[in-house]
Amino acid sequence: MSGSLQRRAEAAMPGGVNSPVRAFRSVGGAPIYARKAHGARLETESGQVLTDFCMSFGPLILGHAHADVIEAIARSARHGTSFAVTTVAEIEMAELIKGAIPSIELVRLMSSGTEACMTAIRVARGFTKRNKILKFSGCYHGHSDGMLVKAGSGVAGIAWASSAGVPDSYAEHTLVARYNSTADVSDLVARFGSDLAAIIVEPVAANVGLMMPEPGFLEHLRKEADAAGALLIFDEVISGFRFSFGGYQDLCGVKPDLTCLGKIIGGGLPVGAVGGRADIMEKLAPLGDVYQAGTLSGNPVSVAAGLATLRWLKKNSPYAELEKRTKAFTGALAKKQAGPKFIAPSFGSVFSIFFTETAPKNFDEVLGTKKDLYVKLFHGLMEAGIYLPPSPFEVAFLSIAHDDSILEKAAAAFHAAFERL
Ligand SMILES: *Cc1c(COP(=O)(O)O)cnc(C)c1O
Repeated sequence: MSGSLQRRAEAAMPGGVNSPVRAFRSVGGAPIYARKAHGARLETESGQVLTDFCMSFGPLILGHAHADVIEAIARSARHGTSFAVTTVAEIEMAELIKGAIPSIELVRLMSSGTEACMTAIRVARGFTKRNKILKFSGCYHGHSDGMLVKAGSGVAGIAWASSAGVPDSYAEHTLVARYNSTADVSDLVARFGSDLAAIIVEPVAANVGLMMPEPGFLEHLRKEADAAGALLIFDEVISGFRFSFGGYQDLCGVKPDLTCLGKIIGGGLPVGAVGGRADIMEKLAPLGDVYQAGTLSGNPVSVAAGLATLRWLKKNSPYAELEKRTKAFTGALAKKQAGPKFIAPSFGSVFSIFFTETAPKNFDEVLGTKKDLYVKLFHGLMEAGIYLPPSPFEVAFLSIAHDDSILEKAAAAFHAAFERL
């Protein structure tokens, strides 16, 4: 069944997919084909029912097909799916985001997190009239040209393109530092500060497995950006509304100039947003000279799904409960540890599994973990009906649908899989 779908998919789409990680190249084996999903369960086209810890890589904090979200989508769709003029729902969404994240005075909605990051960078360059952007290796900011870069030979400096099709003349405006390295940042700001438009960072790094910012790291970015006259951009596409009703910025107390959002604010439909200081956001057309647009920006159906999700989160504040369940789950994994040594760092409703002794603090340390064991774990769990993200570099997500009974059964399956490694 899935073999013939794979053949059809590969004959019609590059690699058989519309986004590369879905081809399972990082873990090997046959990719799965989703038929439908509800709560924490994902059913495949070959009839396997999986407990989902990937959860579409983050948007589905309420679980698959949450009743409020589906109802909002259906109601909205019946009234028309795109108008290309502003709706009341968009105003409500912008007000809700502003109310939740105080650093956001104005916000623009778009259709993906990639667009959000691309736009934040363009606004930062337009506002500062500078060229360079400082990013951190291992942080993902979507697939715009300037962000598809890697550090040259392990040291902080000017980036190289990490994808074919990205001219070096784009990559040379991106500087790459190691996550959690205040020294790298100070060094790059000293060398390039006068042409630095912005520092962009995932305040909680969640695209290399989970890496928390060390105490003082984000504060250091704020200080260096201010001293250089550059902006600080928090990419909260994953962290926004994931750990509290707001951004991670509310928890860490460091205020960025611009914030990128996506994932949860679309409730499982395509969305992205950039928000921040009014004087910066006013650079965007039609007020300013930084161009950005979108036929489907602020799409009514996406906004309806996002609003339903955010309203549910605001009303029910599930964050403490989600964190408690996640901690209990990773605690259970660590306790009856059999097989090779691993650690399972978690924050809020996100966790990852690293086969190593201590939690990685930067991308180089992540690369040093035993990724082959993650691959084996992935397949062992798949046989037991559990779907982990199909890459050692993605974090696992819980939703409110991952209840105690689901998590207890999952923990037992993890233990059995660890033993067989
Ligand atoms: C997912 C993600 C993006 C890109 O969002 P898309 O909607 O996939 O384009 C950007 N930044 C971070 C931190 C992300 O996790």
